[in-house]
Amino acid sequence: MPTKAAAPKPKARPKGPPFNLAKAAAAARAVSANELGQVPVLMIHRVMAKPQYPLDRSTKELYDEFTGMAKQGYVPVTAAEFVAGKINIPAGRHPVVLTFDDGSITHADFDGAGNPKPDTAVAVIQRVAKENPGFRPVATFFVNRDPFYGGSKPGVETMRWLTRNGFEVANHTTNHKDLSKMSRAEVVKEIGSDEKMIEDATGKPSTTFAFPFGSLSRAHLDWAQRGTKLAKWDFQGMFLAGWKPSDSPYAGSFDPRQIPRIRDKEKIKEDDCKRYCSTAWLEWLAQNPDKRYTSDGNPATIAFPQDKMIYLYTRYKEWACPY
Ligand SMILES: [Zn+2]
Repeated sequence: MPTKAAAPKPKARPKGPPFNLAKAAAAARAVSANELGQVPVLMIHRVMAKPQYPLDRSTKELYDEFTGMAKQGYVPVTAAEFVAGKINIPAGRHPVVLTFDDGSITHADFDGAGNPKPDTAVAVIQRVAKENPGFRPVATFFVNRDPFYGGSKPGVETMRWLTRNGFEVANHTTNHKDLSKMSRAEVVKEIGSDEKMIEDATGKPSTTFAFPFGSLSRAHLDWAQRGTKLAKWDFQGMFLAGWKPSDSPYAGSFDPRQIPRIRDKEKIKEDDCKRYCSTAWLEWLAQNPDKRYTSDGNPATIAFPQDKMIYLYTRYKEWACPY
């Protein structure tokens, strides 16, 4: 059984329903809103013109995939926004979370004028956003020690550039080791030292975390989430490697400490990508629109068809807008 941690706090929402329920429900129905639907969280590694390893993606593949998502009405939100339930996107649109692991130079590097180099992940995201108004240029970068090593700027400056430009930099441990085999002290050191590096660079603690290799021990969940008395942090969301879309953060089944992600890859035979990687899942979500998260465009409500009421996490019932 997944352990239920503190769910995201609905602090962004006003207390009680300030909305006219009949009017909000009619608006939600008009766009078939389903804010209890599933959300793809993509897990991406290196991005380059010519991929070298199986986890790599080509710049063109990434550009084509993101452009396709933009045309389907997907709007990126960061991992931090997602776990906080701040999915403020227009009516009829679908959230997607773009996550990049391991702080590769292929994610963020800069030319002599200080602009992102065209083959980097950041440049691809910004280009797709420019060409498709409404596609927010945001993503989350889970980093380890020496992030963006070998780039034109020191890692500290790249982390600052990212946070200044609306991107999220978050914790992926210092040495990228399998935490499930470690003692409590080692786990705390691995996460705490990465946390210190990020906070020193950006001035802010991380609010999200990704387990290296998606590997965790249930016994570690509490320490991994909050640290100890001596070294404290407070992750609102912890991400796995996974193989399926995430439940909505408003669903009772959402476990903020074990959020699945989807490997970003076309339908190749290896690793069951024909079913479990991003191309396959994006197709499945397009073919099953009633299972996909669709916004009603109203941040004051959580809208969904009446028959999905059973999936709502009860703490959110004040904001419920069934139709
Ligand atoms: Zn990793």
